[in-house]
Amino acid sequence: MAKIQAIRGMNDILPEQTPVWQYVEETVRQVLTGYGYQEIRMPVVEQTDLFKRSIGEVTDIVEKEMYTFDDRNGDSLTLRPEGTAGCVRAAEEHGLLFNQSRRLWYMGPMFRHERPQKGRYRQFHQIGVECFGMDGPDIDAELLVLTARLWRALGLHSHTRLEINSIGTSESRKRYREALVAYLSDFRDRLDADSQRRLTTNPLRILDSKNPETQAILQDAPSLDDYMDEESQLHFSRLKALLDAAGIEYTVNPRLVRGLDYYGKTVFEWITDSLGAQGTVCAGGRYDGLVEQLGGKPTVAVGFAMGLERLILLLETLDLVPASVNNDADVYVTALGEPAVATAQRVSEQVRSALPGLTVVTHCGGGSFKSQMKKADRSGARAALILGDNEVQAGTVGLKPLRSDAGQQEVPQSEVIEALRKLLDQ
Ligand code: ATP
Ligand code: MG
Repeated sequence: MAKIQAIRGMNDILPEQTPVWQYVEETVRQVLTGYGYQEIRMPVVEQTDLFKRSIGEVTDIVEKEMYTFDDRNGDSLTLRPEGTAGCVRAAEEHGLLFNQSRRLWYMGPMFRHERPQKGRYRQFHQIGVECFGMDGPDIDAELLVLTARLWRALGLHSHTRLEINSIGTSESRKRYREALVAYLSDFRDRLDADSQRRLTTNPLRILDSKNPETQAILQDAPSLDDYMDEESQLHFSRLKALLDAAGIEYTVNPRLVRGLDYYGKTVFEWITDSLGAQGTVCAGGRYDGLVEQLGGKPTVAVGFAMGLERLILLLETLDLVPASVNNDADVYVTALGEPAVATAQRVSEQVRSALPGLTVVTHCGGGSFKSQMKKADRSGARAALILGDNEVQAGTVGLKPLRSDAGQQEVPQSEVIEALRKLLDQ
């Protein structure tokens, strides 16, 4: 029978890869905890309407990318394509936003039916951060300071650059949209097909077009900047001042609009030039209207999401994964013969209790001494403990360093912890 395979664009993360995932996750967790962000965990499935109402009907995600299906009782459900909508839903549902501000984060798989390629998958993972109830540019700046700290912690600071923009309030965007449509309509036939369609559905997204001719036409298009309301302008200049004061470098990209409808005022992207077309590793912005739009009390908000696959790809491409990030064991315990097996398990337990930072692999499944030592070597362990009939009788353990030429020594069982501590510098 033909073997069943994984779904295209949905990857297994194999044991060889999990250490770098854990390293990135742990580093992010530490940074976020350092700023007082609290973790929230939401389901991966939500009512389809939640995404339609928040992300917007005429966005790439809702039009083309959602995994939507009917539940057995006929409800339309969707595998979450992003985390903001579910986070807002959960925060509202449980009263987390009532008269208070919140700093939340989450991590997990997201699902989008896109064309799989390097850095773009159908199941991918994001770490998302959402802040509620803080309207000033100070919290926008904090998010960027925090991400900059994360890049430093991962060694990525010189490989990422920050682009920011303000897309104003929905009123100023509306006035700008009219001007943009009026301008572009004269060039309708020369726009790429997607942009022609967007001219009536979502004209701001045309600014995002990668098509060279469309980009050329956009050169002389009206600028969002000229339609910006005073409040957004002030917000943006204060944000820039805070970033300057914090020593965060950025460029203002007036074409940066982001693909989701709920953004307003500040938007930003952290971009790398080392991953080709899939260069955005972290993206976000302010979405002051979304909570109310989803039925909650008006609550300002700002957040971002970063793609873990792209971050990990970047670390690997640049060879920035620390050598200590691996699956290596520290100690491998071999045993030959029945009585030795019981002793080996007892000694292993003692080592785990006394030196809890170590990975102690106890050989199981028998086999010759030679094959056990081969496995010890392959485990990456720095030391092997060796138990045979002789050791059991003498009450000793053989201790053999595996990464030096030093020979095996016989150590009394009561001294094995001390000997390992010394050998492994614990
Ligand atoms: P893109 O323009 O690359 O499609 P996006 O604007 O759709 O990105 P967001 O919705 O802002 O992306 O998601 C935030 C981050 O999540 C992206 O910057 C990226 O790092 C990651 N991401 C988004 N879609 C995918 C995907 N299909 N596969 C892997 N990572 C993704
Ligand atoms: Mg996308």
